[in-house]
Amino acid sequence: MPELPEVETVVRGLRKTVLDKTIAKVIVDAPPKSIVVSESFKNKSFESVLKNRTIEQINRRGKNILIGLSGDITLWVHLKMTGHFYYKNIKTKKEKHDLITFHFKKPDSNFKLIFNDYRRFGRNRLYYTNEVMEQKGLKELGPEPLDISPNDFVTLVKSKNRMIKPALLDQSLIVGIGNIYADESLYASKIHPKRILSSLSKKKLIELHGNIQRILSMAIDNMGSSVDTYTGVNGETGKFQNYLKAYGKEGKQCQRCSRKIVREKIGSRSAHYCPKCQKI
Ligand SMILES: [Zn+2]
Repeated sequence: MPELPEVETVVRGLRKTVLDKTIAKVIVDAPPKSIVVSESFKNKSFESVLKNRTIEQINRRGKNILIGLSGDITLWVHLKMTGHFYYKNIKTKKEKHDLITFHFKKPDSNFKLIFNDYRRFGRNRLYYTNEVMEQKGLKELGPEPLDISPNDFVTLVKSKNRMIKPALLDQSLIVGIGNIYADESLYASKIHPKRILSSLSKKKLIELHGNIQRILSMAIDNMGSSVDTYTGVNGETGKFQNYLKAYGKEGKQCQRCSRKIVREKIGSRSAHYCPKCQKI
């Protein structure tokens, strides 16, 4: 699943391509569950709400994309497993998993924005901007890891009597971190993924905070990690998968101590760590 750096890369790609453009029409070929239109629009269709709207803002909250449209409307998108936005020439043929196509008014009518989703777990939802942040999936989100100060991070997690790896994945505690960046941050900080948060010293938590920020920023600079199907809006893959030290490295030697990285199911997810450097 795309995590913070991948979603941030998509947001930046969308800003470069579709910001300030006006939607001429939208063609939907998606399963009904993948599209939500707020009841406030009184049974208007997804297509009719979007028609003639100008894209005024494009922001990220955790792994969510928030596209602000004229008329105080927000298109809230979650890519889930395999959702992609692609900006393509209008002459490009429709592909099998192109679920939504956005066409733009002149002079931007030579290109289209496509939402493509092979697994079809992605969601496109329309709300009035003043109601969108109250929706489940947005309202309960924790702070942004790149915005939180070291001391606020310590306060947020230090009293938690739970294992650190599942806690880092919990979007209501802190947003945007998924399996890749949790494993990498814990490896860099030499913390075992099963360590209980409240058992870690303040110094160790500040070190972890620094590693989370450093790794997420590096990943954004490298346009994310393409470990599965992820690509940017231009179709290019990310490059940060080349810098991963723990995630997906089971059986490979630890770069610090040469012991083999192991993979273990912790919570409902696989954790990758070095059993020598990351002692419990
Ligand atoms: Zn090691």
